[in-house]
Amino acid sequence: MNFAFTPEEAAFRKEVAEFLEKEAPPEYRESRVTFFDMSSHEDWIETHRKIAEKLGERGWISMHWPREYGGQDASPFYRLILREELSRYHSPGYDSIGAGIVAPALLLKGNEEQKKQHLPGIAQGKVMWCETLSEPGHGSDLASIEVFAREEANCFVVNGQKTWTTNAHFADWNALIVRTDREVTPKYRGLTFFLLDMKTPGITVNPVINMAGHHEFNEVFFDDVRIPKENMVGGLNKGWYLVMSLLDYERTTDTVYAVASTYIEDLAEYARENNLLNPLMRNRLAQLTADCEVARMLHYRVTWMQGKGIVPNHESAMSKMYSFELLQRVSEFGMQLLGQYSQLAEGSARVPMYGRIPSCYLRSFGYSLEQGTSEIDRDVIAQRGLDLPRLR
Ligand SMILES: Cc1cc2nc3c(=O)[nH]c(=O)nc-3n(C[C@H](O)[C@H](O)[C@H](O)COP(=O)(O)OP(=O)(O)OC[C@H]3O[C@@H](n4cnc5c(N)ncnc54)[C@H](O)[C@@H]3O)c2cc1C
Repeated sequence: MNFAFTPEEAAFRKEVAEFLEKEAPPEYRESRVTFFDMSSHEDWIETHRKIAEKLGERGWISMHWPREYGGQDASPFYRLILREELSRYHSPGYDSIGAGIVAPALLLKGNEEQKKQHLPGIAQGKVMWCETLSEPGHGSDLASIEVFAREEANCFVVNGQKTWTTNAHFADWNALIVRTDREVTPKYRGLTFFLLDMKTPGITVNPVINMAGHHEFNEVFFDDVRIPKENMVGGLNKGWYLVMSLLDYERTTDTVYAVASTYIEDLAEYARENNLLNPLMRNRLAQLTADCEVARMLHYRVTWMQGKGIVPNHESAMSKMYSFELLQRVSEFGMQLLGQYSQLAEGSARVPMYGRIPSCYLRSFGYSLEQGTSEIDRDVIAQRGLDLPRLR
């Protein structure tokens, strides 16, 4: 067993680090912004687009794609290295939805025209995506999705509401799953997957402000939105299978342990500087550091599987659940370590660590919900990993 990166991968990491040393916004690095709370900075989207295009010019967003679609046939560890470095430099620039979810789904199930139309924009960092799966009544239970698309001669006409749509207020395109058959049982056989231009008439995006006070996700309403038939991916009423693989990718896209480790380092430094290193705090920092290594290894395992052409399933659920819950524990520990200072908001004169910890803590409640909840992850691990029977 060899856990070392190859010399080429190590050289790539160095190249990315040198690039970010020059290009990553210093104020983001200084105030320890992570990709989970970038939306706390009003200018983040302009900064994101600027850096995304520079990453795209270097071919770094798509290195692990096949050459015929603009990649370099590199291993997915290059994506991982890029994301680890972006996390280390607290830099925006990687569209987790477009590059992390939509591109793999298109490579897997898109037809040639769809790949040619959409992959270059993602690779160049020029086109931003959102995904609309969740509805007000259906998040975990995606099989029961109600937003309906009626078939007409050349298009499907969509009506209904989606919710919790991250970045819908910036997105150029949308990966959308809708019901196209209301009669079929089981219900998951009546779903279809579409690519939707967000400039299409009939789409309304309303902000939903999260607990930390930031605008990250939205409700999206569809009022007679017409989607050309050629925008269907994977076939009529075959959307379920695509969404399941999409979720398998989604659960592996974010290098959460890399974010967690920057917080652990900062908290250790804060504890040292402020004489807070009693035995309990030391032990907890040590435990979180060990947990971070476990999360890293789980993530490396799914990346390795992807490199072998295997779509990780219960392995990605395990990685997602473990690393997101770890980041929740790190934020909670941060609140305890900071004590009453944790009540100070960003901008207050005496606020420690730029107010990042309370912001991260408030945002952290969503970690065990987004990308599928921790309960659903445990269910996937029980069924697919342990071969246990379904509960219901
Ligand atoms: C920060 C954030 C960003 C998001 N971004 C997006 C996005 O971009 N696009 C999108 O489509 N959605 C997005 N979501 C929505 C997210 O995918 C859903 O919140 C999630 O799937 C849960 O669905 P729900 O909120 O309807 O809760 P429910 O499914 O109603 O679940 C409520 C509770 O019941 C539990 N539960 C439900 N079913 C079971 C079961 N079978 N067994 C055990 N427990 C169960 C859940 O684990 C949860 O604790 C986002 C959510 C967050 C927090």
